[in-house]
Amino acid sequence: MRLHVWGRLALASVLLALGLAAAQPLSGQGTAFSPALPLTHVENGPNSARAQGQHYVVLVSLDGFRWDYAKREKASHLLALGKQGVWAPDGMVPSYPSLTFPNHFSIVTGLYPEHHGLVANSFFDPARQARYAISDSQAVSDGTWYTGTPLWSLAESQGMRTACILWPGSEAQISGFRPSYYATFDSKTEATPAAQQARIDDAVALLSLPIADRPHFITIYYSEPDHEGHQFGPDAPETRAAELKVDALVGKLKAALDATGLPINLVVVSDHGMIHVDSGWITLDQIADLTGFDVSGSLLYGKTEEDRARVYNQLKKASSQFVVYRLKDVPASLNFNQNPREGDPVVVATGPYAIRAHVPPAGRQDSPPIPGMHGLDPARIPEMKASFFAAGPDIVEGKTVAPFGNVNLYPWLAHLLGLTAPSSDGSLNVLAGTLRDGGAEPDEKLGK
Ligand code: AMP
Ligand code: ZN
Ligand code: ZN
Repeated sequence: MRLHVWGRLALASVLLALGLAAAQPLSGQGTAFSPALPLTHVENGPNSARAQGQHYVVLVSLDGFRWDYAKREKASHLLALGKQGVWAPDGMVPSYPSLTFPNHFSIVTGLYPEHHGLVANSFFDPARQARYAISDSQAVSDGTWYTGTPLWSLAESQGMRTACILWPGSEAQISGFRPSYYATFDSKTEATPAAQQARIDDAVALLSLPIADRPHFITIYYSEPDHEGHQFGPDAPETRAAELKVDALVGKLKAALDATGLPINLVVVSDHGMIHVDSGWITLDQIADLTGFDVSGSLLYGKTEEDRARVYNQLKKASSQFVVYRLKDVPASLNFNQNPREGDPVVVATGPYAIRAHVPPAGRQDSPPIPGMHGLDPARIPEMKASFFAAGPDIVEGKTVAPFGNVNLYPWLAHLLGLTAPSSDGSLNVLAGTLRDGGAEPDEKLGK
């Protein structure tokens, strides 16, 4: 108890010394947090006594780190992590569409994109008559776009403090909570060497906080090697160098976490893979009459049934590079047939083809597709598969897992944190064999 009181006072005095109140960025000299990646602190209270007794989870995402990159590059730190714990040598299966925001949010909610609401990186909501785009920081930080309870909100609601050193969705208040600490994404600075190192320094600083304030669940997001994969293609030397760079960051992070002496489960995942684009632009309005449609990328939002039926018929047999479905008829395996944000009709690429509704408006330059892409159906295109590595005190040693859907991480991560998870699209059974306790509830563990 004395430790608990001291902890609260210690954090309060750090904040006071800095002249900072709650919900202010913690940055600048004299703080324990790196100025290269400032964190905003939200006062959610101290960890509950129960939360203080739980182990820690650090969840890292390496954007676009395809399932086979680690083996291909002999990425020593990731492979060592997998050897020490568990990994998925044949990959983890992303949810459709295999894009960044939909999948990061599936990982932390256990919900398919159409259930958590982020059906693409950018989309239109016909009911709201409004657009969500990851480049729109106001939309990204507006919790009304998101459904489900991300792990940080789940933990905060159960008395456990959390920190998001970047993660899609973590800048919004969702399900009533924000993480106790979060970083704000800035595309201009987030990939600098200083900001990449800062994630590690911030994580260590957070884990050094007094136990009452110390987050038990920390997310870290790196935008590489996705950027290089797009710009140069998945097999380019630049992409391969980026793979080794993030592998080295994982090595540094692992050493830093080990040095804390805390019981930390380190989980490293990616959101999707990458494939070389194999087409020029396929422009849908050159095949179908999209008059009266709202569009977002290749998503098509017909306003009337007549419009939707017309475009469906015009696109139906037009190309072998895509298939088109009425929304309700999209195959169940894609989990993409219920949400009006998905549009109607729905165009699904059959290979690495770049599809869009229109050419850019007059005055905006049109350029050919960039070399690397993702977003495709992982069942058709295995290059979309993602990575999974994990090791720590609650994870078995030296085991591999067969490919599994990323929605199953949610109940598994909740279990590692001792949280009660709501029902989701994932199941604890899928990864229970990787847990030292076999996924048993605390009462079962005690034999009750
Ligand atoms: P893609 O990989 O093509 O799906 O695009 C994802 C983009 O999202 C990448 O350029 C990332 O840098 C960017 N990104 C990642 N996290 C965030 C964030 N929290 N806010 C805004 N953009 C982000
Ligand atoms: Zn991504
Ligand atoms: Zn990408």
